[in-house]
Amino acid sequence: MAKPTIDDIIHAAESREELGFCVACGAMAKDVEPDAREYPCDRCGRPTVYGAEELLLCGGDLLDDEHEA
Ligand SMILES: [Zn+2]
Repeated sequence: MAKPTIDDIIHAAESREELGFCVACGAMAKDVEPDAREYPCDRCGRPTVYGAEELLLCGGDLLDDEHEA
């Protein structure tokens, strides 16, 4: 699964559905607080789920492989 793009994160943040993303495997997580950090991921089990708004504040730095092939 591809990692979420900035557009995906913006849409999630605007949805007000408390969505978050795992920066390790790209899974979308529900019921994640907007400012959540290092929540456990249901998919890969790593503590790498961040709230959508938190990811925006980070400026996408956590998705630093976006430009790789
Ligand atoms: Zn994950």
